[in-house]
Amino acid sequence: MKAIIQDLNYNQIKELVASYGQPSFRAKQLYEGLTRGKDISQISTLPTSFKERLLADFEDCTIKIAHTFEGSDGTKKFLFELADGNIIEGVLMSYKYGNTQCVSTQVGCRMGCKFCASTLNGRVRDLSSGEILSQILKVNAAYGGTKDKRAVTNVVLMGSGEPFDNYDNVVTFLKNLTSAEGLNISPRNISLSTCGLVDKMYQFAQEGIPLNLTVSLHATTDMERARTMPIANKWSIAEILQACDNYFAKTGRRYIFEYSLIEGENCDRRHAEELINLLKGRPCHVNLIRLNEVKERTLKATDEKSAYRFLGLLEKGGLSATLRRQIGSDIGGACGQLRASFVDESRK
Ligand code: SAH
Repeated sequence: MKAIIQDLNYNQIKELVASYGQPSFRAKQLYEGLTRGKDISQISTLPTSFKERLLADFEDCTIKIAHTFEGSDGTKKFLFELADGNIIEGVLMSYKYGNTQCVSTQVGCRMGCKFCASTLNGRVRDLSSGEILSQILKVNAAYGGTKDKRAVTNVVLMGSGEPFDNYDNVVTFLKNLTSAEGLNISPRNISLSTCGLVDKMYQFAQEGIPLNLTVSLHATTDMERARTMPIANKWSIAEILQACDNYFAKTGRRYIFEYSLIEGENCDRRHAEELINLLKGRPCHVNLIRLNEVKERTLKATDEKSAYRFLGLLEKGGLSATLRRQIGSDIGGACGQLRASFVDESRK
């Protein structure tokens, strides 16, 4: 693969343009074209000779939307094709306050969580910062968004991959996504979800990007957590909570826990009590979601009534919690599911 031009920030684009001996206003034209979701060859303000020079060094089409699926609730799910033919997925969810796009940070994942479809075949490769950013540039453009009037207002790093297992590229991506010359999305409108890589949680607290930090908890004891999440063998829940407190101290942002309700595994009365003991009084919120059943996995979702009972127990115990609706489950809304079924189909 050639280099990815969306990896570069505005200053680097300026340097690039200067190094090609082009006048400096070309940098603005190039960066604006890219921010509008265009491939290099599609930027009409640039002369052909300059584009040809660029295309000798950079991929033209970093990413393209290969398929769009529309769910009955208006959720859109995308399969993107990367320049090397790899496939990743993303989702766009509409809310009253705007549209939230869920992006992938790796092709596959190596964290091995037992309920997750993204990790079925391990990690294929990391995405570059520009490949992560381009998912948003393309979707924003596809729905008529511009730099100033964005179709994508919020971003969550909850597609396939573990963001902190691709730390440097993810941080570069976040800097470019939030930069004034780019889409300029506020960190307050961005959520990053991690399975709990504690050392990276401390490192991230120093980056000066006060986004919503979300941790996938899914259990109340280390032993039970290790049954579904291998990362629990490396970092304990106590260490995760300390890292969350540090994040709050450094950024002033309250943190969020994801807790997927798995039948017979993590949602009895005892689990509610343990969760309350762990989290009560902390500046945090708990997002419950009924497991999205993955056909390659045996774990089952808890029924809706039990899910509401669990939510009620947490609220009674003083926790701030919500039960999220299962968005886009008819189109394989859970992470990795759509890609897994697409890759299956194309192998047949
Ligand atoms: N690797 C990161 C982000 C990706 S997943 C992390 O672990 O947080 C985004 C969220 O979806 C995580 O909380 C993950 O645990 C959860 N998830 C994965 N598969 C799921 C499924 N089948 N049903 C419900 N939630 C799932």
